[in-house]
Amino acid sequence: MARPVQATIDAAALRHNLAVARSHAGAARVLAVVKANAYGHGLLRAAQALRDADGFATLELEGAVQLRDAGFRQRIVLLEGFFHERELGTFAEHDFVPVIHAPEQVDMLATLPEDARLDVLIKLNTGMNRLGLQPEAYEAVLQRLRGLSQVRSLTVMTHFASADDARGVDWQMAVLDRMAPPESLPRCLANSAALLRYPHTVGDWVRPGIMLYGCSPFEDAAGPAAGLAPVMELTSEIIAVRDIQPGDTVGYGGLYTADRPRRIAVVACGYADGYPRHAPVGTPVLVGGVRAGTVGRVSMDMLCVDVSDIPAAGVGTPVLLWGRALPVEEVARAAGTISYELLCALAARVPVKEI
Ligand SMILES: *Cc1c(COP(=O)(O)O)cnc(C)c1O
Repeated sequence: MARPVQATIDAAALRHNLAVARSHAGAARVLAVVKANAYGHGLLRAAQALRDADGFATLELEGAVQLRDAGFRQRIVLLEGFFHERELGTFAEHDFVPVIHAPEQVDMLATLPEDARLDVLIKLNTGMNRLGLQPEAYEAVLQRLRGLSQVRSLTVMTHFASADDARGVDWQMAVLDRMAPPESLPRCLANSAALLRYPHTVGDWVRPGIMLYGCSPFEDAAGPAAGLAPVMELTSEIIAVRDIQPGDTVGYGGLYTADRPRRIAVVACGYADGYPRHAPVGTPVLVGGVRAGTVGRVSMDMLCVDVSDIPAAGVGTPVLLWGRALPVEEVARAAGTISYELLCALAARVPVKEI
């Protein structure tokens, strides 16, 4: 028998979430963000379900080539552009769209044969201070790109640092409007949070990621509140049950000490499956549909759950680590992280079933 841990990916939920993104995008075109193996959901599997998107955005060149080889003809954006001159042939061959965020990339682009043609996103730093051209560098780079025969079209891009929190986007929109006035070039701005909360950021292209996977980008919210359907379910089973006495401890480091007689279930799922090791005692799980909490330290292949109040729990009882009935956002919050990190961390050893 196979180890019972399993991830289930719901293709219909992906399609539904893309429709939700479209309903917020109006006339703008949608780039489905599928970086990091489609946030852990499987690149080609997710792209197949999202094939009605106007384009895909990713960071990994190999993945972009896989998308083309699988027959996807729409726009494919590389969100960090190219890193070395030697990648440019692949961009030209597959008609990939690079993000140009640093002046050095313009020199590399100029080495392409003059009859090559690429659509280009030009990324501005409007306050995130990660990737993007500084206001003082933008004009010169823009003029150089306009002078290159290899550049077929230009779209302005920026990324929001606080679309999901109280600081919002307008401080960055003001910088953007000064650097590149609204009518100067087409725009590609919104991530999921901006798309859901700030309609004035929509522009010509939007770049939703996490919402396509059914999660809310906002603190203290879960996807279903925004009409989104969770896509990934992580399930396993109880593989052993034991009774422990007051004073007994559970797991590595004896992190948990029983205060009274307790019934402890061992679940076949650990950090080598993608479950967060830093999840504290009490992180929620559903045992046979009933809410329970973890005890002790999550180990590589197993975690323990207090099932003292779930007499029906025994070997073989199904356990939901996250999914429709237990939002991954809630598990992430308990573990001091965000849904993105848990989804991306799904380990290659976990068998995936698509429904
Ligand atoms: C990851 C990413 C996105 C998608 O962000 P979400 O919060 O997942 O919607 C959009 N734009 C860029 C540049 C990104 O790196």
